[in-house]
Amino acid sequence: MNRDAIFDQPVRYIKGVGEARARLFSKLGIRTVCDAVNYFPREYEDRTKVKKITEVMDGEECGVCARLISDIAETRPRGNLLITKALVSDGTAFMSLTWFNQGYIRNTLQKGVDYIFFGKIKRTGMRIEMNSPVIEKADQSGKNTGRILPVYSLTRGLTQTHLRNLVENSLKIVRDKLEESLPDDLRKKYKLSQVQFAYEEIHFPKSLSNMETARRRLVFEELLMLQLGLIRSKGVNTQLKGIKFNPVDMGPLLEKLPFSLTNAQKKVFEEIRDDMTSSRRMNRLIQGDVGSGKTIVAVMALYMAVKNGCQGAFMVPTEILAEQHYKSVASLFESLDIKVSLLTGSTKKKEKGKIKQLLKEGKVDIVIGTHAILEDDTEFDRLGLVITDEQHRFGVRQRAKISAKGENPHLLVMTATPIPRTLTLVLYGDLDVSVIDELPPNRKPIDTYAVDESYRQRIYNFIRKNVAQGRQAYIVCPLVEDSEEISAESAEGLAERIRDKELKGLRVGLIHGKMKAADKEAVMRAFVRGELDVLVSTTVIEVGVNVPNATLMVIENAERFGLAQLHQLRGRVGRGEHKSYCILFNQSSSELSRQRMEIMTKTNDGFVISEKDLELRGPGDVFGVRQHGLPEMRIANLYRDIDILKEVQSAVKYIMNNNLLGDERYKSLTDRLDRVMNEKFREIAMN
Ligand code: ADP
Ligand code: MG
Repeated sequence: MNRDAIFDQPVRYIKGVGEARARLFSKLGIRTVCDAVNYFPREYEDRTKVKKITEVMDGEECGVCARLISDIAETRPRGNLLITKALVSDGTAFMSLTWFNQGYIRNTLQKGVDYIFFGKIKRTGMRIEMNSPVIEKADQSGKNTGRILPVYSLTRGLTQTHLRNLVENSLKIVRDKLEESLPDDLRKKYKLSQVQFAYEEIHFPKSLSNMETARRRLVFEELLMLQLGLIRSKGVNTQLKGIKFNPVDMGPLLEKLPFSLTNAQKKVFEEIRDDMTSSRRMNRLIQGDVGSGKTIVAVMALYMAVKNGCQGAFMVPTEILAEQHYKSVASLFESLDIKVSLLTGSTKKKEKGKIKQLLKEGKVDIVIGTHAILEDDTEFDRLGLVITDEQHRFGVRQRAKISAKGENPHLLVMTATPIPRTLTLVLYGDLDVSVIDELPPNRKPIDTYAVDESYRQRIYNFIRKNVAQGRQAYIVCPLVEDSEEISAESAEGLAERIRDKELKGLRVGLIHGKMKAADKEAVMRAFVRGELDVLVSTTVIEVGVNVPNATLMVIENAERFGLAQLHQLRGRVGRGEHKSYCILFNQSSSELSRQRMEIMTKTNDGFVISEKDLELRGPGDVFGVRQHGLPEMRIANLYRDIDILKEVQSAVKYIMNNNLLGDERYKSLTDRLDRVMNEKFREIAMN
C-alpha cells in the first residue's frame, strides 16, 4: 500500500472496529486512520501514581498495588441492584472495594493474586475504600493503570476504551509512515519536537512534560498551516508595488467638519497616509467600535486619493448604508468640488449606464455603492483606492475583484467587529491593522440591563413610554436552532402578538432573513423615516445603519448570542442626542449566562467584550468568525495559545520573506499545506 492509502484506510478495517462502531466514530468525524490519529485528547487522566494503602488520602485519585485476600461477596438488596464487595491488602493496610451492577467482577478477580486498583479513595477514620476501581493484574499493568491515559470527547455508544484502542491501533499502523512536514531549520529555530514523538506523546504521553512538548509542536503546526493557508487562499501578495501618492494638505477638508478629530482618528489616518505615500500598496484593516468615527477616516483617505488624481471606490454591504454614506459624504465633497456618485442595485438602468460612463471617463471621482460596483461593466479611468466598510460581509474574492479594476489600487477595509487580537492575527494575517481605540467625546454610554421573564410587562411599558416621547425601539429575536426559517417564524409570532396585545396601537414592523431583499429594504426605510415605532427583527438588522431616533434595543433570548454580537446590536442605539437603553432578556438560569450578561451590563468596550467572549465560549462563537469560514481547530486554542500564535506569525514572516515555500527543503511543508488547503480551505476560497 502506498503512503496515502495507508492513511486513508477506513477505520472499519481496524482491529476491533466493525461496521456499527465505524458509524459511531464517523459521528466524531473519524473516518480514516488519519482522522483517528488526528483526533486529539480533550484532557488526560494521570494513572501513574501508585501509593501504599497507609499513604492514601481521602478524596485522592490514585493506584494501589494490592492482593485480593477475601472471597468475592455479592448481595442483591433490590432486584435491580447487585453489589459486589472484596477486601485487598498490600501489607501496610486493608482496603475494601465495592462495585455496583458489575457481575463480571466475580470472574475477573482471583484470591491471592496481586492487582493494581485505580480509583478514588474514600477514607473515614481507619476505614479505606474504593468504589468501582479500574483493575489490572499487577504483572500485566501498563495499559489502563500505571500510565497517563488520554481522555477523548465521546458520543453516545462509545467509551474511552473504544477510542483509546482505535487510536492506539491506528498509531501502530502509521507510526513509521508519519512524514515530517516541518523542516529541520524551523524545528530548531522554534524548538519543536519531531512528528513521531508528537503523535505518540500527545495520545499516550510518558510524562506530562512530554505531552506539553508534543502539544506545542502540533499547535504550532496547525496554526502555521492555517496562516499559510489563509495567505495563500487569499492570493494576496502583501509585497505588491502600489501607486505612490504625494502628501496632501487636509486643511480644506477638515475645516468643513463640525468637529475635530480624536487622537485615535489622527493616529490611524497617519498610518494610512504613510502606506499610501510609500511605494508599497496599502493593505490595511481599520478596526473601530461602532460610533468610533471610521467614516471620516475613510473620507480623508478618499480625499487624498482624489487630490492625487485618482478615483476612489467606497463599497458597503447594503443599499441603505450606501445611501446613508452618500448623503453624508456627497455634500461635503461637492463643496470641495469633488464629484461623487451613488451606484446600487436599485439605481435606475439609464442612470446606472450614465454613471458607469462617467466613471470610465474619469469624470466621477468617487463612487459609493454596493455590489453593483463589482459588475463587470463598471470600469474606472484610474482607480487608486478601494474601501470596503463592514468588511466581514465581503468575501476575499470580492475584494480581489474590485481591486482588479485598477492597477494595484490601495486597499482599506473597515470593520466594527471588535475581534480579539489573537483572532485578528489569524484572520487578517495578510493585512496591517489599525485600531481606532477611542470614541468621540460626549458619547453617552448606553445603559444596559439584563432581566428575566418577570420583567416582560414592565419592559413593554417602558417601550410605550419611549414611543410616547417620540422615540423608536428595536426588538431582536435570536436565530433559533441555526435555522433562519424557524427564527423568522418566532419573530413573526412575536410581532403578531405584541401588535394585538402588549403594544396594541403602536406601529410595529417586522423584518427577517426570509423576506425578499427589496421588502427588507422597504421596512428598514420605513423605520428610518420614523413611520414605524417598533421594529421586530431577527439578527438581519443591517450593520452600520443609523437611526438616531431609536433609543431602545430589546434582545430576546440574549443568552443565545455571542457577546460581541450583542454589543453590535446594542450599537444600533445611542446614536443620537437621546439617552439610550439596551434590555437583555436572559431566559437561561445558568451561571455562564449570568456571567456573560453581567459583562454586557458592566462595559461598553467592544474589545473587552469580545476578549471575554472568546475566553468564555471559544472562537467559533465570536461574531464575524463564522462568516470568515475559519476552519475548526483540532488542537490549537485561539484563546490560550496566543504565545505560540505569535511565534507562528514570526515563522510565517520568515518563510514568506525568504520565499521558502518554493524551496526544496520546504517541499514537505508545501505538500502538507496543499493537502490541508484542499480539506479546509475550500469554503474560504469560494468566497
Ligand atoms: P462608525 O465608526 O461606526 O462608522 P461613524 O463614522 O458613522 O462611526 O461616526 C459616528 C458619528 O460620530 C457620526 O455622526 C460622525 O459624524 C461622528 N463623529 C466622527 N468623528 C467624530 C469626532 N472626532 N468628534 C465628534 N463626532 C465625530
Ligand atoms: Mg460605519
